[in-house]
Amino acid sequence: MAYIQFLGAAGTVTGSKHLINTNSDSSGKTGFQTLIDCGMFQGPKEWRERNWKNTPVPADQIDAVVLTHAHLDHCGWIPRLVKEGFRGPIYATPATIDLCGIILPDSGHLQEEDAYFYNKHKKSKHDPALPLYTLKEAQACMQYFRPLPPQTSQQLGSELSFRFVRAAHILGSAMVELTLETGGRSRRLLFTGDIGRVHDQHIAPGKVVRSGPVEGEIADLLVMESTYGNRQHPTDDPRPELAAVIRQTVQRGGSVIVPAFAVERTQKFVFMLKELMESGQIPRIPVVCDSPMAIQAVEIFLKHTEEYSDETRRLINQYGSPLEWAGFSFAATPDDSKKINSSTFPCIIVSSSGMVTGGRIQHHLAQRLPDPRNTVIFIGFQAQGTRGFTIKSGAPEVKMFGEIVPIRAQVVAFEQFSDHADTPELLEWLRTFPRKPEVTYLVHGDPFASAQLRDTMSKELGWNVQVAEWMEKVQIE
Ligand SMILES: [Zn+2]
Repeated sequence: MAYIQFLGAAGTVTGSKHLINTNSDSSGKTGFQTLIDCGMFQGPKEWRERNWKNTPVPADQIDAVVLTHAHLDHCGWIPRLVKEGFRGPIYATPATIDLCGIILPDSGHLQEEDAYFYNKHKKSKHDPALPLYTLKEAQACMQYFRPLPPQTSQQLGSELSFRFVRAAHILGSAMVELTLETGGRSRRLLFTGDIGRVHDQHIAPGKVVRSGPVEGEIADLLVMESTYGNRQHPTDDPRPELAAVIRQTVQRGGSVIVPAFAVERTQKFVFMLKELMESGQIPRIPVVCDSPMAIQAVEIFLKHTEEYSDETRRLINQYGSPLEWAGFSFAATPDDSKKINSSTFPCIIVSSSGMVTGGRIQHHLAQRLPDPRNTVIFIGFQAQGTRGFTIKSGAPEVKMFGEIVPIRAQVVAFEQFSDHADTPELLEWLRTFPRKPEVTYLVHGDPFASAQLRDTMSKELGWNVQVAEWMEKVQIE
């Protein structure tokens, strides 16, 4: 009997990893084993520690990985899987592969830096602190990636095939539509990965890819994300308030610090800053995008035009490459980054990671959070247990590099920039399905969000919905 086992993003929003085994019988014979996504756990320690556990089936017995998109919580464990012995193909869309080519080595680099820092300052209980994988190991895993454009069918073993369909979440993002021949019949499985906004830029300003996950999907078994299963995004335009916050910060001599994922989220935000400057709504102060992959990220963003929204196309036609704009700089080296720390004039710093779980943003915040003239602006989801969540929730202090940092800076959050569909949008998308799936498993949500979405879907749609549990195995009948 074929089964799915939820190895991550069950009971939490990170670590997406779902194993499909096409056959497991009492003789112990296994079928074709595929991992849908191979993400890293982030946030609370009890989850992060799971990054050090091996998969329940040995990595060298996993036959293939199918990757929905290039966010670390979906792809960040791939170098570890390869380190443990995986040698199969990793299928992803061309844009996802380009993005992984910078995101995974950067992740390895950050882990080496963190391990170095903890060893140098003896801050870790583990002696010595080790990286989960290194930059070199992350580069080496890229040889296993195989590009597969959306809508193209790919066989996985004798009983399983799949194709990617549009998810409208970030550049290159896709859902995975699988067909499994089992017990003499054909079953359709759909893994959504992360689901993008259902509507256009009027309610999701600055959206890079065009809105709308593919409609009219058919699935016997659906595995769906539930990040915003209990939430509705605001529908008002965030730009007037954003401009006001920046103006007030500059007036009091402060700087603006924006934790943002270096790829796509950062680019869409700098285009918005550019427009606000050109229209005179904010002063022309220096903008620095501080990430080791800042320049490559812009290049990949400009290369993959295939899914651009009309707004993205218009902005690029009007303003060209951000790498050429006066007053905008893209820091690549640690020295560039240190120069920003010595600047005492108002500026806007956009730096990763978006949830302050690692990276250079930590140095910028450690330096600037204690000063009430500064402002921290959150433009992305903050998972529970991350430093970003702590700062955003109004805490008086946060721990960084083993030290307590007081939070006296102004903290502002905008929810409009989300790349995830909210509950009404999810329901709207699900209503395009011509028939109910026999069962839906909710993953990728904090427990309360998943439970609420389960109840809402049962009530509003009459669907059979369950919240997946970590390590739970479900039979595909
Ligand atoms: Zn994502």
